[in-house]
Amino acid sequence: MTSLPLVFEAPTRALPPRHLADLDPAARREAVVALGEKAFRAEQLSRHYFAGHLPEQMTDLGGDARERLVGDLLPTLLTPVREVETDRGDTVKTLWRGHDGTLVESVLMRYADRTTVCISSQAGCGMACPFCATGQAGLTRNLSTAEIVEQVVAAQRTEAARGGRVSNVVFMGMGEPLANYNRVIGAVRRIVDPAPHGVGIGQRSVVVSTVGLVPAIRRLTGEGLQVTLALSLHAPDDELRDTLVPVNTRWPVREVLKAALDYTRETGRRLSIEYALIRDVNDQPWRADLLAKLLKNKLVHVNLIPLNPTPGSEWDASPKPVEKEFVRRLKAAGVNATVRDTRGREIAGACGQLSASG
Ligand code: SAH
Repeated sequence: MTSLPLVFEAPTRALPPRHLADLDPAARREAVVALGEKAFRAEQLSRHYFAGHLPEQMTDLGGDARERLVGDLLPTLLTPVREVETDRGDTVKTLWRGHDGTLVESVLMRYADRTTVCISSQAGCGMACPFCATGQAGLTRNLSTAEIVEQVVAAQRTEAARGGRVSNVVFMGMGEPLANYNRVIGAVRRIVDPAPHGVGIGQRSVVVSTVGLVPAIRRLTGEGLQVTLALSLHAPDDELRDTLVPVNTRWPVREVLKAALDYTRETGRRLSIEYALIRDVNDQPWRADLLAKLLKNKLVHVNLIPLNPTPGSEWDASPKPVEKEFVRRLKAAGVNATVRDTRGREIAGACGQLSASG
């Protein structure tokens, strides 16, 4: 097992109190027994928690037991500070405060055929991509497994109250998921494990998005998970990618693509390539052709994201005709490509706009 170079390890100080979602099923049973309760209570409590139930809805737990178990294993990790809606209520951004005052955001997006929650894996981010709002402030700390899962459970609670459910989870909020590897993998397992042990969302409906930390991609390949990997490429050439995604100086385009395509070969899952189109920066026809050349005949889908301008940046999205030509060139080479919508843009809830200060 390869460990990450020290430079990509986030500070883990001030992690929140232990929570049921930090524990695997066996450890939960042990914790419940240590509290003087029967082991099967662990499954009851888990079933309630992952379904988004509140303590008063946990009626199969007796008053005393409930108080003890909830008090010890379901501490409040994240408190909503602010909620903003747009797209007629179909996009909702929530700002959360952690036990130590840390701020993170998640975004719920309702579509006709699915409901997706975009979650954060770290408070801030250390990857320093210059076009991303989260990258500007640097990294505050890693989120715990339970803090990550709680964003999904909270969304599930909101949806259940409307008769719906969360169907998809994307790790595209704040943070670099693979720089918080163990906690993120723990969270993925809680998210995909069926009830009573987890939320029960399909593995194929979970997307882990990364700047491309090669050793961590290789480790993920060995986990036996079927989640979709998204690689934030943004440039097909090292000269430009070195500036847009600074970690490229460590793992260049050729290496990161190889690791991501190996993941695809191992899992059979189509690779998502994220490419934010930035006017006059990475949107030239020759770059479309070079990207097409790299991806030709591979099991990939290119997600083109019109750049969401961040405050103080002089960069802007590519003009529509330029975007169209970029797509046309990829498709002409037989490479799947679509332009992603810009849900939540006006509430600073779109890709790369999460900063916890807006
Ligand atoms: N750190 C991970 C996940 C978080 S960002 C990663 O980089 O993949 C999710 C996606 O939004 C990434 O592809 C990221 O590059 C993109 N993104 C960041 N800032 C953006 C912006 N201002 N406009 C459009 N996309 C952006």
